[in-house]
Amino acid sequence: MTTRTPLMAGNWKMNLNHLEAIAHVQKLAFALTDKDFEACEVAVLPPYTDLRSVQTLVDGDKLKIKYGAQDVSAHESGAYTGEICGAFLAKLNCSYVAVGHSERRQYHGEDEPVVNAKVKAAFAHDLTPILCVGEELEIREAGQHVAHTLAQVDGALNDVPAEQAATIVIAYEPVWAIGTGKTCGAEDAQEVCGAIRGRLAELYDQDVADKIRIQYGGSVKSGNVAQIMAQPDIDGALVGGASLDAEEFVKIVRFRD
Ligand code: PEP
Repeated sequence: MTTRTPLMAGNWKMNLNHLEAIAHVQKLAFALTDKDFEACEVAVLPPYTDLRSVQTLVDGDKLKIKYGAQDVSAHESGAYTGEICGAFLAKLNCSYVAVGHSERRQYHGEDEPVVNAKVKAAFAHDLTPILCVGEELEIREAGQHVAHTLAQVDGALNDVPAEQAATIVIAYEPVWAIGTGKTCGAEDAQEVCGAIRGRLAELYDQDVADKIRIQYGGSVKSGNVAQIMAQPDIDGALVGGASLDAEEFVKIVRFRD
């Protein structure tokens, strides 16, 4: 049986400037112990403008905290004003990049072909995509949440080879639970995460499906993380709001306590 190391990732969204970022990562570094890092991988996804500061701190002090970006351009370089390519993120030693976050889909019109191109752009630079998928409230109310989410997984992984797919992280984030305080019940989250793993086994094989970490995201807090993490197909959390409070994020990392 494959053992998957849980991944707790903090998506800071458009919060914390580069000085605040340094203070925040220092707080995490003071609080987290080797025991925490043996039990869990911990990553932060700061705004682009914080990445160099976070890198300097992490590299300089040999911290075990990983970091990455919240988005990546689908393009390699050139006339794409405002975009940041995978090569730049790789140069900053990023480990992860979120792709297809619902806020990118909603406010920037990212559809499946764009998300698929971004997944490939991340892999082309050895960045691990955290592929975000999940349904809006109307889709859940219509009972279409599993089909909708699986279609997003299919689209994002189109023509992605098994060796790369085996290393991806998928975050199931029901849109209605993001930043709303409404958490999806742990069993409801498991229903979709289990279906995602089933689809990965169909797209690739069971071995690949068993290697892929599937996170849950949507109003995760220290008070609900243990129930969520008790589900067999949930291997971590993508945490927005609660990751901005260092103490709370550390409690989430210590979900077993
Ligand atoms: C997110 O931004 O991916 C997220 C899950 O946010 P929150 O935890 O605030 O719901």
